Amino acid sequence: KKYVVAVVGATGAVGEEIFKVLEEENFPVEKLVPLASSRSAGVEIEALGKSWKVQELTHDVFEKEGVQIAFFSAGGKVSEEFAQSATKIGALVIDNTSFFRMQEDVPLVVPEVNSEDIAQWKKSGIIANPNCSTIQMVQVLSPLHQAFEIERVDVSTYQAVSGAGKKGMEELVEQMQKFFAFNLQSCEAKAFPHRIALNLIPQIDIFMPNHYSKEEMKMINETQKIMHASFPISATCVRVPVLRSHSESITIRFKKKVDLQKAREALLEAKNIVLLDDLEQKIYPMPSIATDTNETYVGRVRVDNFDEHILHLWCVADQLRVGAATNALRIAQQWIKLEDF
Ligand code: NAP
Repeated sequence: KKYVVAVVGATGAVGEEIFKVLEEENFPVEKLVPLASSRSAGVEIEALGKSWKVQELTHDVFEKEGVQIAFFSAGGKVSEEFAQSATKIGALVIDNTSFFRMQEDVPLVVPEVNSEDIAQWKKSGIIANPNCSTIQMVQVLSPLHQAFEIERVDVSTYQAVSGAGKKGMEELVEQMQKFFAFNLQSCEAKAFPHRIALNLIPQIDIFMPNHYSKEEMKMINETQKIMHASFPISATCVRVPVLRSHSESITIRFKKKVDLQKAREALLEAKNIVLLDDLEQKIYPMPSIATDTNETYVGRVRVDNFDEHILHLWCVADQLRVGAATNALRIAQQWIKLEDF
């Protein structure tokens, strides 16, 4: 069986990646329906060996085109306004924005962790894709939780500019060009609250009354929902001048004593995780390794010097793929299996 697949936000950083992974994974596509705002209507998109015209997103386009699966990545407001226009004709919506994630009747899924939740999709017709930083973290936490039972997690992120979409990438490149033209002081910050070139910004999204940023609270709340667990988590999210792939330094306290060898084995066996941890050879994950791949890389795994219940590790993944397009596609693949059954 083949499916009519719509991509809302077809011209964006995530949308473009969705077309690539659909093709690479040989997803059973009958027809593609690329959708964006009126600004991009008429633009041609090359995908699956053909050219497809971008249409303006409207409420009736899903019915007109007979859409069966709709990937949404055009911002929360667009999902809020248009997702129901797809679900009401029976289409599955896989939403990359944060709009529906914490809604009770919407499963929030990372297939390696809680694929069983996909079966709940009929409640709303929507499956939410978690925040990009959350996805790579829970992929790593899940096998370790099974081995040693997590008691608490502390994470600091080093998030690439493409997490803010195409405009984020353009802003870093533009500011670096200004730097090389000895004109760094003329940089204007638009996509980020401050200059990002040659800088770090400890703010992603707005701040909440508890002094955490919204991005940090997403990592906390979403992790608990996906893992069906209530262990405490704290996050510090930082924007770094890297074009693509998020990195995370994660400290995990377990109920059981950690055995380093067992922890490494659990990670080696975990699906879609690659252990890169050879200190002598200077091998550890970096954005330059993760970019353009569908795996989550883990390294620098070590037991705490003072507490045998604590493990520290470093994790990197391409947030446009693992953190968005690839996770969405894996959800769709699992959903198809369920439908076929
Ligand atoms: P982006 O590069 O800025 O792309 C935004 C896309 O949305 C464009 O295709 C744009 O089309 C479309 N769009 C904007 N307003 C629209 C409207 N009113 N109606 C229809 N289409 C509209 O952003 P992105 O990084 O791909 O992110 C998109 C969404 O995915 C966001 O909600 C973001 O939070 C989420 N997400 C992003 C990442 C990431 O790493 N970047 C990861 C996970 C989730 P036009 O060309 O017509 O403007």
